Amino acid sequence: MEISDIHTHVLPMVPGSALVNIGCGPLPQVHGHYFSAGLHPWEVTGSDEESFRIIDSLLSRSDVIAVGECGFDALRGTSVEKQERAFIRQFELSESHSIPMILHIVREFDRVIRFKKMLKPSQKWLIHGFRGGPEQAGQLLGCGFCLSFGLTAREDTIRAVPEKNIMAETDGKCGIGVVIGKISMSLGMEYCETEALIRSNNSDFFA
Ligand SMILES: [Zn+2]
Repeated sequence: MEISDIHTHVLPMVPGSALVNIGCGPLPQVHGHYFSAGLHPWEVTGSDEESFRIIDSLLSRSDVIAVGECGFDALRGTSVEKQERAFIRQFELSESHSIPMILHIVREFDRVIRFKKMLKPSQKWLIHGFRGGPEQAGQLLGCGFCLSFGLTAREDTIRAVPEKNIMAETDGKCGIGVVIGKISMSLGMEYCETEALIRSNNSDFFA
């Protein structure tokens, strides 16, 4: 596995080099790519059983390797109670299929930490597009979360996080080379070395 981009919405030029979020489908008719399937917190309505049924069937495919993005958003979407119920359903799918979760978390870090302590997942939880500071990153890593960094990540946070915890994503907003370039500048590391580090860390997420 050679995943450079751990979260995008766009099929990469090189099959297998990105984890492509397809929401509740449909699954593109292509080979060699990796996908995540889930219900975004913005899409939660409270009557989502049909969506969970579809996600469940997508997750049984070998090329759908993560649940998500799912999570909590304090600024957009439905009530927090409905977001919580949808989150728990997707946590259950992650556990029953033994695959990790990709999380969209906006101003809800306390809540997701509480849920992690309460639900005690056996699968990894990755907070994508992390834009917080070094202190918050340290707290989340200490609670066992994984973090991925994109274009808007803070350089001081990238420098403060242990190298083994640095993952990268585009969220479909640019080429992954731009993000790797940003991370390599932040770390003062060669581009090739940074690219190898990112690939190895991204792939370890699925180990
Ligand atoms: Zn996204």
